[in-house]
Amino acid sequence: MSTKVSFYTLGCRLNQAETAALERNMEHRGYQVVDFLQAADVVVVNTCTVTENGDADTRKLVNKINRIHPDARIALIGCQAQIQREKLLALPNVYWVVGNSRKMDFGEILYKNFDSPAPRVMTPVISRKSFKIATSGIDRRHTRANLKIQDGCDFFCSFCVIPYARGRARSREFADLLQEARELIAAGHRELVLTGINIGTYQYRNITINDVVETLLNMEGLLRLRLSSIELTTIPQNLIEYIKRDKRLCPHLHIPLQSGSDEVLKAMNRKYTVREYAEFIQFVHWQTPGICLGSDVLVGFPGETADQYEETYQFLSELPLSYFHVFSYSERPWTKSRGLKPKVSAEVIEERSRRLRELSLRKRQEYLAGNLGTVQYILFEQQKRGWWKGLTDTYIRVKVKSDCNLYNRYLPVRLMRIDNQLIIGSLVNSE
Ligand code: SF4
Repeated sequence: MSTKVSFYTLGCRLNQAETAALERNMEHRGYQVVDFLQAADVVVVNTCTVTENGDADTRKLVNKINRIHPDARIALIGCQAQIQREKLLALPNVYWVVGNSRKMDFGEILYKNFDSPAPRVMTPVISRKSFKIATSGIDRRHTRANLKIQDGCDFFCSFCVIPYARGRARSREFADLLQEARELIAAGHRELVLTGINIGTYQYRNITINDVVETLLNMEGLLRLRLSSIELTTIPQNLIEYIKRDKRLCPHLHIPLQSGSDEVLKAMNRKYTVREYAEFIQFVHWQTPGICLGSDVLVGFPGETADQYEETYQFLSELPLSYFHVFSYSERPWTKSRGLKPKVSAEVIEERSRRLRELSLRKRQEYLAGNLGTVQYILFEQQKRGWWKGLTDTYIRVKVKSDCNLYNRYLPVRLMRIDNQLIIGSLVNSE
């Protein structure tokens, strides 16, 4: 009987893309990949370490796995494994700690070391070279597929551990990513999401993010192309033109801000000013009405004063953003901001985050309300109790009542009313 392996992914979209590719790779090697809660011989957790919460999630998950599957062996792979191996090795039932440098080889590692009596630790230095990915990340649970094009980062924002956990910026070989895109489309994925740590810095030989977008848009069978988070200073000049010209490039940009105060941005080692950010957002909003613009903000960076926080709050409330994610600052190993003072207290960070989350919710509701009454195409993804759910190209979650099988269908829907964070719609001209 083949060895059963299950996976759990913590953290970002890139981790999801990598887990999907690793699952396919393990299947090709003869392992049986089962759902997370099913009995398995090995449970693999793809970890995250971007905040303290990410670290705590690994610990909680290991406890849960030990409760549910006391006989399973646990493998912790990815970001936290890369930089905190001793901590992870001390957790019960952990047999493998494999950093980002080797995690995509986990199938081979397991094959060679399954019966090894001692835990295996593999966290060599991460290479700076461009890379290939052996298997495509066909994801049978989603109609969308993440396409990894890049990894690592050279920006060294002072709060961020990613350049250490994921290494320096490097790009995927162009032919290799095109090959995966073709395979994903052939397998039925109609939407691809370009994924990486800092995708705007994609550079393979003289090929840039611009060429990646342009080439993928020429690919037969692709219905939608979406960009994941992109840094302001790396956005190609003609991206907005592409969005205006080609309906398949989703009018949805997620551009991290982090703070609305220039002093804080400088201390964070971010590469733009508040004014530059605002000008770009206003420009895009004006050029492509209805576009969904999202952001990230980091609250409680060391030295963030009450006034600087209020500047951020004011700035975000005035910008035509459709939502933003709020992150509470936490101390990360190796980062420059560890040495910065004064620290903002946990209570103050919590209160500041709470207010910003409320603001984001209000903005989200306003954005949803502005779309009511329109007819938009939905790519349907999943069904629950008679409701089919899917996304617009502007990342609005929509649900419709239908007895038909709408999985992976792309259909026009009239957006009727808001239900919490999504919109209830009705099919138009349903076939
Ligand atoms: S751009 Fe800054 S925040 Fe983003 S991954 Fe790179 S170092 Fe981290």
